[in-house]
Parts: sequence; C-alpha cells; structure tokens
Amino acid sequence: GKITVQDLANEMGKTVSEVIKELMMMGTMATINQEISFEIASLVATKFGFELTTADDSETEDEIEKLMEIEEDKEEDLKPRPPVVTVMGHVDHGKTSLLDAIRKTNVTKGEAGGITQHIGASEVKINGQKIVFLDTPGHEAFTSMRARGAQVTDIAILVVAADDGIMPQTVEAINHAKAAEVPLIVAINKIDKDGANPDRVKQELSEHGLLVEDWGGDVIAVPVSAKKNIGIDHLLEMVLLVAEMEELKANPDKRAVGTVIEAQLDKGRGPVATVLVQGGTLRVGDPIVAGVASGKVRAMINSKGKRVKVAGPSTAVEILGLSDVPQGGDQFVEVPSDKVARSIAEKRQQQQREEMLKSSQRLSLDDLFNQMNDGLKELNIVIKADVQGSVQAVKQSLERLSNDEVQVKAIHGGVGAITETDVLLAAASNAIIIGFNVRPVSGAESLAEKENVDMRTYTIIYKAIEDIQAAMCGMLDPDI
Ligand code: GDP
Repeated sequence: GKITVQDLANEMGKTVSEVIKELMMMGTMATINQEISFEIASLVATKFGFELTTADDSETEDEIEKLMEIEEDKEEDLKPRPPVVTVMGHVDHGKTSLLDAIRKTNVTKGEAGGITQHIGASEVKINGQKIVFLDTPGHEAFTSMRARGAQVTDIAILVVAADDGIMPQTVEAINHAKAAEVPLIVAINKIDKDGANPDRVKQELSEHGLLVEDWGGDVIAVPVSAKKNIGIDHLLEMVLLVAEMEELKANPDKRAVGTVIEAQLDKGRGPVATVLVQGGTLRVGDPIVAGVASGKVRAMINSKGKRVKVAGPSTAVEILGLSDVPQGGDQFVEVPSDKVARSIAEKRQQQQREEMLKSSQRLSLDDLFNQMNDGLKELNIVIKADVQGSVQAVKQSLERLSNDEVQVKAIHGGVGAITETDVLLAAASNAIIIGFNVRPVSGAESLAEKENVDMRTYTIIYKAIEDIQAAMCGMLDPDI
C-alpha cells in the first residue's frame, strides 16, 4: 500500500510541510502529491505519535464498535426507574447543607452510628421510593458532564437563599438547566433566618421566567431550612411528584450502560470509579469499557458503603477492577467479554491520542451555519458583557436578527468576564460566545480552544450584529 504525502498529512491533521520536513530528516525527499511506501509512512506517523493501520484493522474496528452499540429499548421492556437529581444555586446559598440534610433524612437507626462512605452520589428513600442525588453540587459539574455528551440529571433542585435572593450564579443555574431541558424545582432555603423573604425570591424568579405555583405558574417552590431541617421531606415529595410526571423509565434486562460520575486512583484499590447505571443491570464479574478504561467489575460498593453484587437502572455504585482511571462524563458499557473490553479500550486510547493531535471540528460559527443548511435552525448564543444594560442590548439586537430560517437565541446572558463555565455551557449547547467589553479569563480561553467553542469579543455592538448577519448569509470571514 502507498499513501500520498498530502493524504498522510490530512490523516494526522498536520500540514504538508511538517510531513515533508520529517521525511527530509529521514533522508527522503518528497513532494506534496508523491506516494510514499507504507513503511516510510508508518515511520513518519510514529514521529507524530500516530500508529498507521491497514484497512483490515479498521474492519474489525467496525465489528467491535458494533458491540458497543446499545440496542434500542422496546416499550414493553421499560420499567419505571428512580429520578437522578442535581443541586444547583449561588455560592453559599446552601447547596452542600441541603445535600447533607437530605442524606440525613434517610439514616435509619441501624445506620446512625456508621459514617457513610462518600461515593459521589447518594440515595434516599421517601415514602418507599428511591431518589438518587449526585453529590457534586453546582451547575459547573452538571454542564461539564453535558459538554462531554452525558445527560445524567432528570431533575435539578435550584437552591435560593431567602435572605439573599436571585444572584448571578442562580441565573447561570437557571439557564444551564433550561439549556439542558431539565425540569427545575426551587428550594427557597434559609427560611429560618431573620432577613428571609420568600416572596421576594418568588418575585425575582418570575423576572427570570420562572413563575411559581402560588403566582399562577407551574414551577414548584418549596420553603426549606437545610440547617434547621425544615421542609426537606416536602421537597423530596415534590421531587417524586415531578419524577412521576416525567415518567422516567429504563430497561433493566439488557447489557448495563451508564455514565462515570467521578473517578480517581486509589492507593490501595487502584482505579476507582463511581458510575451511574442508566440502563440494564451491572453485576460483579461483568466486563466493561468506561471511556478509555476497561476491566472486569471486581467489586461494587453502593452509596451506603455496602458491597453489592447487582446494580440496576438509576443506581450509583463505586466499582473496582478497571485498568485505568476514566473521566467523569465518560460513558460505560458492559461488553460480551474481557478481551473485547480490552480491545475497545485500546482502540479508544489510540483514537484519543489521534484526536488530541488533530484539530477537532466542533463549533466554529461557520460550521454552525453549515449545519444550519443541513436543517439546524437555531443559533444559540452565550452573552457576557460589562454591565447588565449591555447584556440586554446585545441580546435584543442579536435575537432581533432571527428570520424565518434561523432562530437566534441567547441561552445565557451575564455580567463579567467569560469564564470556563460559560465555555462549557456553550460547548454543551452548541452555542457561540459573544463577549461585549469583556475578556475571557485565561482558563476560559484555553478551554474554548480545546472544546472548539467559537468565542468572539466586541467593543461595538454593531460589529457583533454585522458578524452574525454575515454568518447568516454565509459570508463570514473565518479569520475574524
Ligand atoms: P453552598 O456554597 O451553596 O454549598 O452553601 P453551604 O451549604 O456551604 O452553606 C453556606 C452557609 O450557609 C453555611 O455557613 C451554612 O451553615 C449556611 N446555611 C445553609 N443552609 C442554611 C439554612 O437553612 N439556614 C441558615 N441559617 N444557614 C444556612
């Protein structure tokens, strides 16, 4: 087999001149369209950190990838499953305290003495029904999962301190939940405090499009005190109510599939991952692939710190036995054999190396509009500006550009620098970021590059309008 210099460069996401330079250093002179032997091409590929494979390999790859496909569920196989809940809200409004209070509602007399082990998720039972809580509070964790393609949360609890009201991160949380189309329940917290004013919170919620029930809307708001343990049971009952309306279901009788919630390397136990089983049933001994890690489930530990042998849908368990540490947000899948698991994981590690070297193709403004030609009708925008007035002005000007074909939609607007959270939201929602009189924080810039999120900053509104308009006509200069 032979390959041209141009094709080899393309495959690796390298420029032709980089490849030619490498060839020259190996003593081979080549031009752009010249064919080089497989052996030489392999050598060059290795230099760039790639492994050249022949066509035969890619066939088995297809076969193996097929094993990873999860068969679609038939309606009659679906059984009700418990809801998975995330807690979000502004810093210091009581997310952590609320999670603590919720965990305590369920400590039976027998367990009261034992400190339950933290596995990244907890389960409580109310009226005999189970609810699963993800233990990392905040919309950042929620959205970083989503940016990695994982949707684990069924319901979000928005904590708002009754003495403080809606704050910037509350607005972020609302918009993140909206972008994910996850239903919200509001916990109006700290009602035990002197300055508590739940009515003001309801008023402010309405200003952000959340109309609570006693104001004629359909948003459930529950007054609670995480500290004094007031209203917690009622809040949990409301979670069950919303869950019932969502008709959450899964098929427990198939290969297990789910998402890695968190993972780390434990000194004594090796790679340890908390996974949420979302479909099927995971059993000790099952071979699995989780991201780039593989292995046989050696042991499973539930949220109460007890060893278990089986975990069905909507169960969070800590698993031991993986070869490597997967990432939070990675999907895990049970596969037919250990060997298959290893081979898939290896393929993925290879792919990961290649992808890191290749420029990935997510999201530039141009791509978005190309996708639009293929039927994408919405342009999502995250707006950050120096003052609230500018946020509104940019939002209105850009949304006004919507026409019959393209809907321009500001999914989030906020005051301040462009942060990593903004980038994750944009990545998760196929959005671009428009900054007006603000700059990205340094971490945000590199993250945007990594996630390939199109981030544009302006000091003149009209320039932003022009760009979006130009893009809508397909005339945008990609190098702006
Ligand atoms: P987080 O940053 O949202 O996780 O907030 P924390 O749970 O850490 O709570 C922030 C502070 O508010 C802590 O000092 C808590 O003790 C306090 N706090 C949380 N909930 C309540 C409550 O219901 N009443 C009162 N009075 N204080 C609370």
